[in-house]
Amino acid sequence: MRLEGKVAIVTGASRGIGRAIAVNLAQNGASVVINYSASENAALETLKAVEEAGSRGVAVQANVAEMADCEKLVKAALDNFGKIDILVNNAGITRDNIVARMKPAEWQDVIDTNLTGAFNCVKAAMRPLLKQKSGGRIINVSSVIGLAGGVGQANYAAAKAGLLGMTKSLARELAGRQITVNAIAPGYIDTEMTAALADGVRESITEQIPLGRVGTPEDVAELVSFLASGSAGYLTGQVIAVDGGLVMQ
Ligand code: NAD
Repeated sequence: MRLEGKVAIVTGASRGIGRAIAVNLAQNGASVVINYSASENAALETLKAVEEAGSRGVAVQANVAEMADCEKLVKAALDNFGKIDILVNNAGITRDNIVARMKPAEWQDVIDTNLTGAFNCVKAAMRPLLKQKSGGRIINVSSVIGLAGGVGQANYAAAKAGLLGMTKSLARELAGRQITVNAIAPGYIDTEMTAALADGVRESITEQIPLGRVGTPEDVAELVSFLASGSAGYLTGQVIAVDGGLVMQ
């Protein structure tokens, strides 16, 4: 139980990678604020799994693109569990289109959720994190697309690459307070997000993955729990790809 007594906020935790992260943190002993944007039922499924893992949780509706909503998430952590130790900025969307056809709203929605959403949550968590004087962990879920780009994904790649710049800047700003800030870059992970991709994409990507399979949400969640733990205390400002070797930096 390497996260016993710790309190985590996981954004976008109603399904997919976010749900796996929330459950893995709980399996390691953390209490978890489970953020969802739309589906309360799905968030309650995550909560059930967190409780079955023997930890405490609370499901909280919030749109990370809104600062006031992120403040609500942090308040939920403080009201329910008394503090915050770990913030996982996982919420994300895609609005794929080639730039020639991309509507300004498709650009803006992705930037607002995937990049500004992480900024909002960090900003909201900053005061209690600093006041507690007990260090902390910020983990940003970027993407290999943020490293390598992707056709039809200029908005998503810009947001995910922006997240890497924010991660490194924050790591420098917060290192003196023993708050580590790292980013992870998942490759092709089996979730509802990737299920929406065109037929044949999965097969062609799988062929390119050196480890020979697509990733699971648990592959990502294991890395998050490690980064959240004391074992990763000397690791900050890093970008770790969890992609079966797809993009080697
Ligand atoms: P998903 O679509 O299954 O889950 C995304 C979650 O984010 C959902 O719970 C959704 O409700 C939530 N969300 C969306 N907009 C939100 C908002 N404004 N406020 C709060 N929550 C919001 O996707 P996933 O595959 O589980 O992806 C999780 C994260 O991992 C995303 O940031 C995604 O970009 C990233 N990622 C996924 C893959 C992949 O292959 N699946 C690869 C690289 C990175």
